[in-house]
Amino acid sequence: MAKQAKRKKTSSEPAWFGFQRMAPEDKTGRVRDIFSSVASRYDLMNDVMSGGLHRLWKDRLVRMMNPKPGEAILDVAGGTGDIALRCYRRTQGKANITVCDLNPDMLEQGRAKAVDQGVLSGITFITGNAEKLPIPSRSANVYVIAFGLRNVGRINKALEEAVRVLKPGGRFFCLEFSPGVRREIKPLYDRYSNLLPWLGQFIARDRDAYQYLADSIRTFPDQKTLVKKMEAAGLEQVKYTNLMGGIAVIHSGWKL
Ligand code: SAM
Repeated sequence: MAKQAKRKKTSSEPAWFGFQRMAPEDKTGRVRDIFSSVASRYDLMNDVMSGGLHRLWKDRLVRMMNPKPGEAILDVAGGTGDIALRCYRRTQGKANITVCDLNPDMLEQGRAKAVDQGVLSGITFITGNAEKLPIPSRSANVYVIAFGLRNVGRINKALEEAVRVLKPGGRFFCLEFSPGVRREIKPLYDRYSNLLPWLGQFIARDRDAYQYLADSIRTFPDQKTLVKKMEAAGLEQVKYTNLMGGIAVIHSGWKL
């Protein structure tokens, strides 16, 4: 009871949108606009900004997930489908994969990419908010959210939803940028973060979207804080793996 009351209080807190505090619903609206603005150049921007590293991080994530044929895999904030497509290939198209994202424009890019890659069935694309998933309880073997949790209005609510939709014995994975970068690389990383808005202006023609990206990483919970949030939501055996000195981090846990 005390735990529930605590969760409710945290859930109604204002959200960080970059360095601004605002109502979670307002953040959700702003985030939706950002991804509509960049959707058609999103994949290109990812390659340019990370020098292709995001592909290696996503490969690593999917190796850790180790999806199996027959499993129900839910890729939340799945955007243009990078994780879903990797899961599809790893399971030879024999898993039941759903991509759920707030933004129809991102999903449209994902659908088109799947078709380009000859994937005509096996991945379902649906619109939905991570905080209120249009997915039945206890239906997913694996829940994954890659570079998405930072964008949701209420992180705690999204984690509770993850626990709701997972089957007992289901696994949770989150790949996300982190402010908890190793001290030795932090000055260089900070300089790079300051370049992001300029890159965004040049390639995606949206400086503000990439200013938001840089700022949202700085206000996201660090590794240990996210562990606590996952545990508070009901996940167990929570752990994390730093990628490139903590620039990106994979958190995982179980619903037991
Ligand atoms: N997972 C993909 C990837 O790794 O390339 C896309 C990540 S992209 C940085 C973030 C995605 O989160 C966008 O597609 C955005 O629309 C989605 N998103 C943001 N807030 C969301 C929410 N509350 N519920 C569901 N999706 C959300």
